[in-house]
Amino acid sequence: MIRGGLVIDPSVGLDAIRDVAITGGKIVAVDANLTGEAKETIDARGKIVAPGLIDIHTHAGRGKEGPELALKDGVTGWVDAGSGGADNIDQVAAVARGAPQIGRVLVNIARTGVAAGGELHDINAANVALAQGAIARNRDVVVGVKARLSENVAGTNDLEALRRAQEAAAPFNLPVMIHIGQTYSPMRAILPLLKRGDIVTHMYAPAPNGILDDQGRLFADVAGARRRGIIFDFGNGVADHFDWPTVERAVKQGFWPDTFSTDWNVMSKTTGVVDFPNVISKFIMLGMPLSQVIACATVNAARVFPSFDNRGTLNVGAPADVAMLELRDGTFEFVDNYKGTRTGRQRLFPAGTVIEGKTVQRA
Ligand SMILES: [Zn+2]
Repeated sequence: MIRGGLVIDPSVGLDAIRDVAITGGKIVAVDANLTGEAKETIDARGKIVAPGLIDIHTHAGRGKEGPELALKDGVTGWVDAGSGGADNIDQVAAVARGAPQIGRVLVNIARTGVAAGGELHDINAANVALAQGAIARNRDVVVGVKARLSENVAGTNDLEALRRAQEAAAPFNLPVMIHIGQTYSPMRAILPLLKRGDIVTHMYAPAPNGILDDQGRLFADVAGARRRGIIFDFGNGVADHFDWPTVERAVKQGFWPDTFSTDWNVMSKTTGVVDFPNVISKFIMLGMPLSQVIACATVNAARVFPSFDNRGTLNVGAPADVAMLELRDGTFEFVDNYKGTRTGRQRLFPAGTVIEGKTVQRA
C-alpha cells in the first residue's frame, strides 16, 4: 500500500491525494483513504506518486549495471536507442532481457552501432540484410531501428541511411527513430522519409538544419510532420543536442515535446542529464503544467512502443510500476549541451521506485 501521496496519473486524468493498493504485482485500487491491513506500507505523504517513468532514448543496454541504476531513478521502462548494430546487438539484447524492468532495443542501421567518429561515413555500414537478421533473432526485445543523421556521424549519407533504416524496419512493421541536428540535409528533405509512429529525437538540436528557420520560426514541414503522427522527443544528451535559445523559441511557438528522454548512460550523473527526473524538471521550469510533464514521461512514452502497452498508468489491473518523486523548492541550475544555464525554482528528485509490486532498495 502506498499511502497519502499526490497521485498524478495523466492516463486517467487523476491528480489528487490517494492511496494505491497493490496485490500480486498489480494495481488493485486507487482511492482516498483505503482501509485494510497491508503487508508493507509506504508513506508517500508529501511526495508525488506517478506511473513508473519510461525513457525512450537511453544507452542503458551498454552494460549490465545500467538498468539497475536507472531503476533507482524511477525508470521502470527504457529503450536503448542504437548502442548496438547487427555486429553487436546480441550483447545489448542480452542486457535488455536480464534487466529488472522492461528493457527494449533499437537496432542501429549501422552494423557497428554507435561508433566514435561516426558510424555512417561509409554507407556500406548500413546493411539492410544484416540489420534485418539482427531484428529477426532478437524479435522479443527489438522494437525499432535507429539512424543517427548528424553530419559528424553520417557525412552526406543522411537520406540514404534513413531510406535503408526504413527498408530494414518495413517487413517487421517497426518504427524508426532518427537523431537530428547539424545534418547535411535540411528537415524538409528528411521528414518526408518518415512514417506515422516514427520518432525524431534531439528535437531542439541547434542549427544547421534544425526545426527552426534562420528567423527562429518553426518550419511548416515540422508542424506538418507532427500532424501526421511523427513523434518529437526531447533527447537531452551531452553534446550538440539542445541549447536553451532553440528550446525557448520553439516552446514559445507551442512546439513542446511529445516525450522526454535522457540519452542516458551510466556516466550521466556527472553530466547535465543527472537523472530522468532532472531532465523532466527542465520543462517545469519552462512552464509546462506538472500533469503534462508527467504525461510526457509516462503515458505518452508508453504509446510509442507496443511493448509498453499496459505501462505508464496506475489504472486498476495494470502492472504496479510506480515512481515516487519529490518536488523540492529551491534554486536549481539546469544546463544545456553548450554550458548554457537557466535557473529553475523547482526540481523533481527520485524518491522511491516500485517495480511490478516490489519495492526497489535505494542506494
Ligand atoms: Zn543516444
